[in-house]
Amino acid sequence: MGDNNNDTLSRDARLKGLAAREDMTLYIPNSDDLGEGFVRLVDSMGDDLTVVNAARVSFNRKSNSMSEKDKSLIKYLIEHEHTSPLRHGFFTFHVKAPIFVMRQWGKHQVGCSWNEVSLRYVKHDMGFWEPRSWRSPPESHIKQGSGAPIEHQGHAHNIYDKAVNAAYKAYLELINAGVCNEQARAILPMSMMTEFWWTASLQATLRFLDLRLAKDSQSEIRDYAEAVYKIVAEKYPSTLSAWEQHAR
Ligand SMILES: Cc1cc2nc3c(=O)[nH]c(=O)nc-3n(C[C@H](O)[C@H](O)[C@H](O)COP(=O)(O)OP(=O)(O)OC[C@H]3O[C@@H](n4cnc5c(N)ncnc54)[C@H](O)[C@@H]3O)c2cc1C
Repeated sequence: MGDNNNDTLSRDARLKGLAAREDMTLYIPNSDDLGEGFVRLVDSMGDDLTVVNAARVSFNRKSNSMSEKDKSLIKYLIEHEHTSPLRHGFFTFHVKAPIFVMRQWGKHQVGCSWNEVSLRYVKHDMGFWEPRSWRSPPESHIKQGSGAPIEHQGHAHNIYDKAVNAAYKAYLELINAGVCNEQARAILPMSMMTEFWWTASLQATLRFLDLRLAKDSQSEIRDYAEAVYKIVAEKYPSTLSAWEQHAR
């Protein structure tokens, strides 16, 4: 598939705010520059040596520190799709994203676990997604994706804000009228923000990056994939570098 997603921000520009390292929270840029959305590392398990030693146990061997030989082993594993050693590393992310992004993310199932805020229990107060810019449909025959920014951004923003505000107002009115949370939420749009925890094996995380960093994935989820990429690069530098050389 070609590049049918004409949001031309560079990879770095996609992530404006890398907060304090110890917090490992990456904010996703939106129209206000300071994104409402974020990817925060809750926890992780393992490092490059975990991958190496999961493979070396086949020969009843173990490395205590990464060597060039170990880096080559990781490359070999990835090149030959010897993927099971990648299943001993894990990440848990806390993510805030619009529902339409979470919907795409949630298609990643194998090696992944999910928990999400329930609007049966709590009232929605997580805000709504605001785009950086409104894009036109793709210029080629491709059906999915988008093209250049439209000319009249302000007009589109006005239509959008009016509809989102009306939906949220109606939501609050339904609740004030005595309607339960689980039914009132049905009036909220796909732009509503949600929060979830995603725990994924290293292999599942790399699969997510394969698909969601690709140029044909929607720009909005690509921002989140960039954040995940940065965190994985921090924890598994050799594995990510081998993956970049081979899989991408
Ligand atoms: C650009 C793009 C457009 C998309 N468009 C749509 C769309 O229009 N509609 C839609 O519903 N989804 C769409 N998707 C989602 C897509 O179909 C996948 O569900 C999603 O990308 C997750 O990938 P996955 O299946 O590899 O992940 P996982 O579900 O995590 O699976 C990982 C791997 O496990 C194996 N596997 C998983 N399930 C099975 C199985 N049942 N049998 C055998 N092997 C299995 C496969 O090798 C798979 O790659 C789109 C994805 C992208 C990137």
